[in-house]
Amino acid sequence: MIWERLQNMTNKVVAIDGPSASGKSTVARRVADALGWLYVDSGSLYRAVAWKALKDGIDVQSSEALADLSATTAPEFFVCEGAVRFRLDGVVLDRELRAERINRNVSPVAADPTVRARVTQWLHDMLLLGNLVMEGRDIGTAVFPASRHKFYLDASPEERARRRHAEMADVETDMSVGDVHASLNRRDTIDSRRMTAPLSVADDATIVDSTQMDIAGVVEFVVEHVKGVL
Ligand code: C5P
Repeated sequence: MIWERLQNMTNKVVAIDGPSASGKSTVARRVADALGWLYVDSGSLYRAVAWKALKDGIDVQSSEALADLSATTAPEFFVCEGAVRFRLDGVVLDRELRAERINRNVSPVAADPTVRARVTQWLHDMLLLGNLVMEGRDIGTAVFPASRHKFYLDASPEERARRRHAEMADVETDMSVGDVHASLNRRDTIDSRRMTAPLSVADDATIVDSTQMDIAGVVEFVVEHVKGVL
């Protein structure tokens, strides 16, 4: 039913997947601006479910508790400054979603099939809002497998840890680059090994290794590629 509705729509999706701190957010945001499409951070929805679980004292290892939580979690979506944003329990969540306690809990929450089904439904519904540039782990493989614009962004683990540590300076001050490396590695391991929609490269995705590239170069590559296929 949802697929019938989606297949009849003319709105398009650029899928940008990849591991933690591979530069997806910055690249996806700028690609969206360059195309005039809406930017979607799918990870923020998994982070928001983890935030609500912790706020409500829910055991993130219990699939029953996560099923109840998914059923009762209802973000209100809105468009703001070229991005799809949301309010949950009356709060527009932002920096609190980047805290280390969310980093520690988000991958177990995101591995739960009920949570994934719920978030995937929200992501499908966003197509009604316009053309989308969506970043995540399973956008090209599971959420919008029919998209003609799929990219898998990667960078070496050391470079990703260095970039994320620099970004985190104003959120968490007491983590070393080594701590960040370990935290990213923990998350990537769970994300790659989970049963439902694990992090993997779609067969028809274009792989971009940004270790030696600057952001502008990656953005230009993706935008030119999308325009060439449109
Ligand atoms: O992209 P970000 O690092 O904010 O994502 C946080 C977590 O959300 C990931 O580590 C992963 O567990 C989960 N996620 C996912 N599928 C997506 C986006 C994020 O499982 N499409």
